[in-house]
Amino acid sequence: MSGPNTSFDPKQVASLNAEAVEAMVAAALAAIADAGDLSALKEVRLAHAGDRSPLALANREIGALPPAAKAEAGKRVGQARGAIKQALDARQVELETERDERVLVEEAVDVTLPYDRSARGARHPLTTLMERVADVFVAMGYEIAEGPEVEAEWVNFDALNVPPDHPARTMQDTFYVGSPDSGVVLRTQTSPIQIRAMLDRDLPVYVIAPGRVYRTDELDATHTPVFHQIEGLAVDRGITMGDLRGTLDHFAESMFGEGIRTRMRPSYFPFTEPSAEVDLECFVCRGESVGNPERPCRTCGSEGWIEWGGCGMVNPRVLQSVGIDPTVYRGFAFGMGVERTLMFRNGVSDMRDMVEGDVRFSLAFGVEA
Ligand SMILES: [Zn+2]
Repeated sequence: MSGPNTSFDPKQVASLNAEAVEAMVAAALAAIADAGDLSALKEVRLAHAGDRSPLALANREIGALPPAAKAEAGKRVGQARGAIKQALDARQVELETERDERVLVEEAVDVTLPYDRSARGARHPLTTLMERVADVFVAMGYEIAEGPEVEAEWVNFDALNVPPDHPARTMQDTFYVGSPDSGVVLRTQTSPIQIRAMLDRDLPVYVIAPGRVYRTDELDATHTPVFHQIEGLAVDRGITMGDLRGTLDHFAESMFGEGIRTRMRPSYFPFTEPSAEVDLECFVCRGESVGNPERPCRTCGSEGWIEWGGCGMVNPRVLQSVGIDPTVYRGFAFGMGVERTLMFRNGVSDMRDMVEGDVRFSLAFGVEA
C-alpha cells in the first residue's frame, strides 16, 4: 500500500476482515447443520445467503475499500458465499432424501393387515344386459316402456288376442292373484306393456320394454318361475316385415358382433300375424361346426343357429283392441328371454346361478357403474 487512503474507513469495513468473514461462515454452517427439515433450511438460506444476510451486506462494503484491498476482500467474500451455498445445497439434498424415505414408510401398504371386508358388490348381469339392449334401441329412437308386474288378466291375455280357453291361462302356467276368477295375474310376459304403450301414447309408437315376468315353473337348470323378457314394439304407417327383419339384424349385430345374421321360421303366437321364431347365427362358430365333427361347437350344439326369441306383425285384432285402425297402422313386435340370451351369450350353463344372488357370480361379469 502506498500512503493513506482518506476514503477508507476501517470501522465501516470491519466486516470484511478475515476473522469476521470466517465467523459468518461458521455461523451459517452451524445453522445449516441444525436445520432439521426443509422449511427450517429455507429460513437458514434466507438468513445466511439472502439479500440481507451478513455476507451480502459485507459484500456491498467492498466498493468502499482501497483498490489494492478490493481484490482480496472480494475473493474472501466470494469463497465464503460459495462455501455456504455448497453446504446449503448438500443439506437440501439430504433433507429431501430423508423426506422421500419418510413418505415411503408412512404411506406404505402393509399387505399382511386385514382388509376392509365390506364387499363392494356388483350389478347383476341380467340388469346390465337389459340396459345394453335398451341402449341399442334408444339409439334408434325407441322409448323405454314399463308396466306393472301385477296385471289385469284382460291386458295380459284378452287384449293380446289370447282366447279364454287358451292353455296358457290355466293355473298350471299362470300365477293368479287371489282366486283364478279374480281377473288379476302376475304378468306372464312383457307383452302387456305393449298394450299399455299403445293405450297411453300417441302414434307412432316405438318402445322397448324390459321386465320381470312370472310363470309356474319349477326352478331347475333351464327354468325359473321368475325371469326377464325384453320386448320391442313399433306401430306406424307402412311398417313391413322387412322393417322387422332389418331391426332384428341390427339388434343381433349390436349384441353379438358385426355380420351376425338372423333367420325367421314360421310360427304361431296369438298376438302376431304372421308370426316367426327368430334364430341367431351362432356367433361362436358362425356355422362352421355344422357337419364338421372335428370342430364341434358347444354354444349352438353344432347346429349353426341358436333359437333366440319370437316375433311377428302385430295382429290387427290387437290393434283394434286398443283402438288403433289396422287399415291405417301396422306394427311389428318381438321378444326375447333375457336369461336365455345371457346363457348363450356368456356361456352360463345353469339358470340357478342367475337367481341365487351369490355376488361372486355377478362379480365375474365385472363391476359396472
Ligand atoms: Zn356354434
